[in-house]
Amino acid sequence: MALVETLYCKVCTFPVDFCDYNKKATKCKAWLEETHPAEYQKLYANKENEDVDEKTKKVEESLKKMELRQEKKDKKELEDQQNSKIIIKTIERTKRKRSIEIQGLEVFPLNLKKLSKKFSNKFATGCSIVDNKLVLQGDLADDIEIFINQLLKEEAGLDGIKVEKIVAKRKKTEEELAAEAAAAIANGTSTAKYVKGDELKKA
Ligand SMILES: [Zn+2]
Repeated sequence: MALVETLYCKVCTFPVDFCDYNKKATKCKAWLEETHPAEYQKLYANKENEDVDEKTKKVEESLKKMELRQEKKDKKELEDQQNSKIIIKTIERTKRKRSIEIQGLEVFPLNLKKLSKKFSNKFATGCSIVDNKLVLQGDLADDIEIFINQLLKEEAGLDGIKVEKIVAKRKKTEEELAAEAAAAIANGTSTAKYVKGDELKKA
C-alpha cells in the first residue's frame, strides 16, 4: 500500500480537501491550480464540468419549450387558416353596377396592402382596404375566386381554402317592379299587376 501524503494548503493551512469550506477558497484554488495542477483537476474539474452541464441542460430545456410553444402556435394558425372561409360578396349598386367585398383575408399570411395592389393591377380597377376587407368595383366574383385560390397557393402554400360567393341583392325600385309585372303580363307568363306600395296583386 502506497503512503498517501496529505497535501496542505499554503493559503488556509488546512488539507486541500477542506479549502472549499473556508472564506479564502478562491485564493486557495488559485494557489492549488498554480502549484499542483493535477491535484486541482482532481478536486475541482469534475465539479466545474457538472455546473456547465447543468447550465447547458437548462438552456436546452428552455429552448425546447420555446420550440414547442412556437410549434403549437404555428399549428393553431394553420388550423385557423384551414378552418376559415373567404367570402366574396357581390353588392348590386344599381341595375348594372356591381362592387365586390372580399372578407376573411386577414387570417392568412398575406399583406393586404400588396394584395390590393395586385387586385388593382390584375383587374384594372381601383381596390381599397376597408375594415380588413378588399373592396373593388365590377362584376368580378368568379375571376376573383380563381385569383384568390391561385394567390393562396403561390404565396401561402395553402390549398383547399373555402371560398364562398354571396350576392347582396339591391331592392328594386317601384318603377322596375311595375315594369317587370307589365312585361310578364305582356308575354303571357303572368296575370299579376303591380300595385304601387303593395305586394303583387291578381288583376
Ligand atoms: Zn486552502
